[in-house]
Amino acid sequence: MRAVAVFPERRQLRVVDHPEPRRERPTDVLARVLEVGICGTDREIARFEYGAPPPGEDHLVLGHESLVEVLEVGEAVEELAPGDLAVPMVRRPCASPACPACRSGRADYCLTGEYEERGIMRRHGYMAERIVDDARWFVRVPRELREVGVLIEPLTVGAKGMIDAAEMLRRLPWVRGAPQSATRGINAVVIGAGAVGLLAAMALRSLEFETWLWSREPEGSPQGRLVEGIGARYRSSAQRPLAELAEEVGRIAFLFEATGSAAAAFESMGFLGANGALCLTGVPGPTGAFPVDAGAIMKRLVLRNQVVFGSVNAGPDAFRAAVEELGEFARRWPRELASLISSRHPLEEVPALLGRPPVGTKTVVAVAA
Ligand code: BGC
Repeated sequence: MRAVAVFPERRQLRVVDHPEPRRERPTDVLARVLEVGICGTDREIARFEYGAPPPGEDHLVLGHESLVEVLEVGEAVEELAPGDLAVPMVRRPCASPACPACRSGRADYCLTGEYEERGIMRRHGYMAERIVDDARWFVRVPRELREVGVLIEPLTVGAKGMIDAAEMLRRLPWVRGAPQSATRGINAVVIGAGAVGLLAAMALRSLEFETWLWSREPEGSPQGRLVEGIGARYRSSAQRPLAELAEEVGRIAFLFEATGSAAAAFESMGFLGANGALCLTGVPGPTGAFPVDAGAIMKRLVLRNQVVFGSVNAGPDAFRAAVEELGEFARRWPRELASLISSRHPLEEVPALLGRPPVGTKTVVAVAA
């Protein structure tokens, strides 16, 4: 079958003829891949800066954002049936008996760093015609989400960040025990108008946060219009420094970084409000050192009880939450949601696509015709 693979040693990226995957255990699921999204991580892997092939192999099949259709299930599989749409999760547990995270099904919090990620770290990904995996790694997706289901994985980044941020908010006695509506009217700022940032802004709006999105695209750009269309406010970093935005917002309770820029992340810390939380999700490439006023940052963190946390990948809870959230976005903002997918391309075009700068928000590979 056809697949797209990167050969790091030979510095090649090409369409390959990859062995057909086979169901081996009664809990295995065989699925055909419908669509795969391309993100910054894929671009880093294609530049040979990140990721690793499975041990002993010279190549890695790319792709971790996907939507699949179940073809066959083993006799022990109850929760999926042929014809179902599903999204496979990305990370697989490490083997260490001493890793409580992986042993309790939460490889997203893996302690050893020996986890595997499909299409990224040590395990082949989804940019292939068919895949096999254990049923527990799939989350079922309603048929109505066929056109946008490929956005579930990038939405899990925000979903997990928000699940964790809710824990931080709950440390405040007057929030703990309050209903979910306690988030109504709380100020949140998303930095970065890529798919992760835009989807996070939708998630914040659906939780009724007052939401701003700050990014480099001009006001009135497609990204800006999308943000305004979901009831959030778009401000361009090209027109307004962060200080001006912070003044407009007032107390920023939640900052969600989705830029991958270390400079933007550290700058934003200076504008976080009292008791606020900053969630970092970007994985920057090598940037080199740059100066920051570490004393001022530390002083603010302490005197304002602030929390800065990183959030990677997503566990099953975030995948399930993202399926629900995407359904809600599709009902509330169908046009804005559909506009996140800028173009669809056949598998054969992937090497060329990864060799040039991205256009629009989300480039999708339509693997199945
Ligand atoms: C993926 C995550 C992954 C992370 C780090 C992201 O692009 O969405 O699943 O954990 O990269 O490898």
